[in-house]
Amino acid sequence: MRRCPLCHNSQTYILLQDKKRSFYVCMTCGLTFADASSHLPPAAEKQRYGRSRVASKQRQLSQFILPLLEQLQYHQAGSLLGLNFGRILDQTSLTTIESAGHTLNQYDPFFAPDHDTLKQEYDFICCYRVFEHFQYPIKEWNLLTRLLRPGGWLAISTPLLVDLEGFAKWHYKNNLTHVSFYQRQTFEHLAQNSHFELLFAAKDLVLMQKTS
Ligand SMILES: [Zn+2]
Repeated sequence: MRRCPLCHNSQTYILLQDKKRSFYVCMTCGLTFADASSHLPPAAEKQRYGRSRVASKQRQLSQFILPLLEQLQYHQAGSLLGLNFGRILDQTSLTTIESAGHTLNQYDPFFAPDHDTLKQEYDFICCYRVFEHFQYPIKEWNLLTRLLRPGGWLAISTPLLVDLEGFAKWHYKNNLTHVSFYQRQTFEHLAQNSHFELLFAAKDLVLMQKTS
């Protein structure tokens, strides 16, 4: 039995054991997580993330953030202060955001560990393909909820786990840096227990709003 690294419940069961790792499912929040003994050490993790910082990934990141910002502008007039958590956006896209009057701070534990960015309150926070890397997601969840102002938005891109029975064939779990997998139910649980409203959750996009 393994304790859930998100809701701390110990009612979990083993879903799959493959050649490299064991995966467990939490019966309370639905998080599916890799056994902690298989977590990569930080140096190996950093090396892999360095590889993923190629141009095509940068494009995907800006294609996530720029339309999101356009949507948020409909809901809140004036300039927005946002945090891009877990990855770094390219300079061109940053300039686009700044020339529209907004500010986007960035935090990446490996490549931009600027802790001053974690001492402010934000209108929105975006996490593009970051949640799946959280080894103890309750830690980051608590941090992100603290950094968001009441009424602020949290936009998460992570492929939702929709078919537990098909997990063994799901390629996304094969990347050793992917350690936490979320179902829609997981975000419903978080919303109910952390004063959030779950606005949208499908495919690989989750949008939540912190209630005032
Ligand atoms: Zn749980």
